[in-house]
Amino acid sequence: MDLKASLLAAPGPQQRRAIAKAITLLESTRADHRARADELLTELLPHTGKSFRLGISGVPGVGKSTFIEALGLALIGQGHRVAVLAIDPSSSVSGGSILGDKTRMEQLSIHPQAYIRPSPSSGTLGGVAAKTREAMLVCEAAGYDLVIVETVGVGQSETAVAGMTDMFVLLQLPNAGDDLQAIKKGVMELADLVVINKADIDRDAATRAQAQITSALRILGQHGRPDHAQHDATLWHAQVLQLSALKAQGIDAFWQAVTRFRGLQEGSGRLAARRRQQALAWMWERIESGLRQAFRQHPQVKSLLPQITRDVEHGRLAASTAARQLLQVMRPGH
Ligand code: GDP
Repeated sequence: MDLKASLLAAPGPQQRRAIAKAITLLESTRADHRARADELLTELLPHTGKSFRLGISGVPGVGKSTFIEALGLALIGQGHRVAVLAIDPSSSVSGGSILGDKTRMEQLSIHPQAYIRPSPSSGTLGGVAAKTREAMLVCEAAGYDLVIVETVGVGQSETAVAGMTDMFVLLQLPNAGDDLQAIKKGVMELADLVVINKADIDRDAATRAQAQITSALRILGQHGRPDHAQHDATLWHAQVLQLSALKAQGIDAFWQAVTRFRGLQEGSGRLAARRRQQALAWMWERIESGLRQAFRQHPQVKSLLPQITRDVEHGRLAASTAARQLLQVMRPGH
């Protein structure tokens, strides 16, 4: 059976192997692999889009893997199939990993109804994110109806995850200060749902954090999200829940909130619009990254760049003129 057929076949060991093979193919940098991966993606595309894409972020230690394990096992118990993919900004910089080094999600990772794939270990954040996005499509085609994309709350990775998922969830610790960080970085604005984890440790602190973040979100909602029209019955206001991933408490309420969000988004057409906009944004992100790479690799640009750089540094050439001259070199027929 070819790769596509194995992917679309019934769940089982053969399908798992096919998923791993497909993802390896699309993570490869070899041109022939890339061509085959593109062909495969095009063939799979009609079979994608039926799952719910859930983004989860939070600082290291907030409890992401504990939470995903508890949620994943609960949902599998209800008949779902769950894929977990990671975007690890540390791996794209250093080749090391914040997310991948420890044994994570012990039960979920060996469950036949779950598929867990760590972040690609090299490439720029944009490249790693693009590959995760493609891996997500492979998992969807293979019939996983929930795809979780996880990231660590450092760098720009939250924006990348929010930009490829239907719902973005931010995990927080029940102490103040932490939440202020997220507000400062603009991450809170991305959140459709904020979860205060480890509420079992200090319920009062969790309740205080919940109130604080709820009011912060209200302010952000008034000023920061112009797409949210007033007086719209289908409108979703970002919510704040508290739970304990370790004790698996609050998981049901979390899933109810996700289900309600999904219903509102689907019913109002916002889900489809969000996905359309995301697909185009990804196309442009990839185009821009490809152009940047082609520019830097262009032989004439490479030979002109050192002199032009010095000229700009020493004020002999205006930066904008220098840019125009270098871009001119890229024109066909030049
Ligand atoms: P990650 O780095 O965000 O994936 O965090 P982990 O899931 O690895 O959790 C970090 C630590 O916090 C582990 O020792 C967990 O057992 C613990 N932890 C996670 N969730 C909870 C919780 O709800 N309550 C308590 N008390 N500890 C938790």
